[in-house]
Amino acid sequence: MTKRVFRSIFLAALAVLLCALALTMGALHTYFTGVQLEQLELQTALTAHALENEGVGYFDGLDTAGCRVTWISADGTVLFDNRTNSSSMENHLAREEIQSALSGGSGTSIRYSDTLLERSIYAARRLEDGTVLRLSVSQKSVPQLVLDMAKPIALVLILAVALSALLADRLTRNIVEPINELNLDEPLSNRNYAEIQPLLRRLDSQQRQLRSQSQELKLKQREFNTVTRSLSEGLVLLNSGGTILSINPAAARLLSVTPNCLGADFAVANRNAAISALVEKALTGEKAEQSLALSGGEYLAAASPVKSDGTVSGVVLLLFDVTEQRKAEDLRREFTANVSHELKTPLHAISGYAELMKDGLVPPEDTRHFSEKIYAEAQRMVQLVEDTLRLSRLDEGAEDMQWSPVDIYEAAERAVQELTGPAELKDVTIRLEGEHCVIRGIAQLVSGILFNLVDNAVKYNKDGGLVIVRVEPEDAQAVLTVADTGIGIAPEHQARVFERFYRVDKSHSKEIGGTGLGLSIVKHAALILGAAVELDSTPGKGTIVTVRFPLPGSDAAEKE
Ligand code: ADP
Repeated sequence: MTKRVFRSIFLAALAVLLCALALTMGALHTYFTGVQLEQLELQTALTAHALENEGVGYFDGLDTAGCRVTWISADGTVLFDNRTNSSSMENHLAREEIQSALSGGSGTSIRYSDTLLERSIYAARRLEDGTVLRLSVSQKSVPQLVLDMAKPIALVLILAVALSALLADRLTRNIVEPINELNLDEPLSNRNYAEIQPLLRRLDSQQRQLRSQSQELKLKQREFNTVTRSLSEGLVLLNSGGTILSINPAAARLLSVTPNCLGADFAVANRNAAISALVEKALTGEKAEQSLALSGGEYLAAASPVKSDGTVSGVVLLLFDVTEQRKAEDLRREFTANVSHELKTPLHAISGYAELMKDGLVPPEDTRHFSEKIYAEAQRMVQLVEDTLRLSRLDEGAEDMQWSPVDIYEAAERAVQELTGPAELKDVTIRLEGEHCVIRGIAQLVSGILFNLVDNAVKYNKDGGLVIVRVEPEDAQAVLTVADTGIGIAPEHQARVFERFYRVDKSHSKEIGGTGLGLSIVKHAALILGAAVELDSTPGKGTIVTVRFPLPGSDAAEKE
């Protein structure tokens, strides 16, 4: 800009200077030509007067000092010329000044020489005898003058150029400096030029717009970071060149890269070849996913291309933790295998007894005994199928079951009542203590917990033993304890008795009709109800199982 302004001012100044010079010179030239013409006319008048008085003798010895004197007769014949022999000169009648003098008494004219380098000024006057006296002087023409004055003109030109340059420099600086000093951070604080105020106002509004947009972007970025930071899934965003644009802490941890690897090439930063291959595939526009082991867990890595206008503009890589899912799948597979296995034994027994009876190999007196066995095995199967179904429903979250106020004490009363018969057979006494405690829960689940716990307390009790069922409120909880004086559980089994199909003494449990699912149902139901289960057992002395239900209004119950 500085150069342009300088050039413009310089050229303008130079042009103005040269024009002024040329015009001044032209005006001067015209003025002096006029003066010269006037003087020549005066001289002609004086000479004419002298010639009239003295006759042709006036010309003798006349010093005309650069002035040409010509005397012409009325018919145009040259009578005298101080420069040329008059007889050799052509007739002058046609000359403009002569014509004017003959007709009006005096005349002037200016004519250029053939080369245009010189011009002559003529003044003619008619004498009384009708002849015409003409005086002329030569004057240099403008081109000749310029040629003659080349040196001073060159000097003037140099001066004009220097002056123009100086002027242009000063002016350029004066114009540009305030622009250079503009405070663009606060455009409206500048008061230098009124002409650039609209531009500054526009700049200010754009800056404000930019600031608000960048603020919004920052906010969105912060929101995005907050969301992705709290994600347990790994999330990586890459551009079309495979450069990392964003990576959340979970992904950085799983891929063993530093979270500040933004801008790095994913293939270089990440050392997991399988994931790099997925990203490579996604960069070609194809979705790719694979489950793999990462930092001790099972993860599903999914790389999806982000397309805009049909071309891949980036890739989103997601890493989902599927460890629990896989575990649940394994558990379900194991459970199915266990159920099949558990069902096989009573089925074989039933089939065996029935076959013997069918073949008539059972004497009539034993028929009753065999039928009882078949019935017992069938009951075991029924129990197993019922428990399995119950567990399956719990696995599904018991979503079809109704939540309502449930009185644990009343549920305990029903369980005790139901199990009094089997208890009496073993000479076991069941005692119910405590008070009414109403929780918010699912009645079937609470009954299931109570039935299984009291049933175990009776089943694994000694003859003549005691079972104490107690319900009481304690620290915003309804506490249910089922204590027995039975065989107890050895410490090494205590943590495992809640596993599905786990029995401390398989044959004994089967003998007394256990499925190995009772405590699993208790644990699962308690989980759904938000209750905690504790087991305290001493082999040979007895077992105490405590279930703590949150009472309505407590923090734990609010979370439900
Ligand atoms: P089961 O149907 O076999 O009783 P559970 O899941 O209810 O299955 O119990 C698992 C195992 O824990 C039982 O086989 C038994 O060995 C042991 N057990 C459970 N409750 C008691 C108890 N009150 N006293 C002693 N052992 C118990």
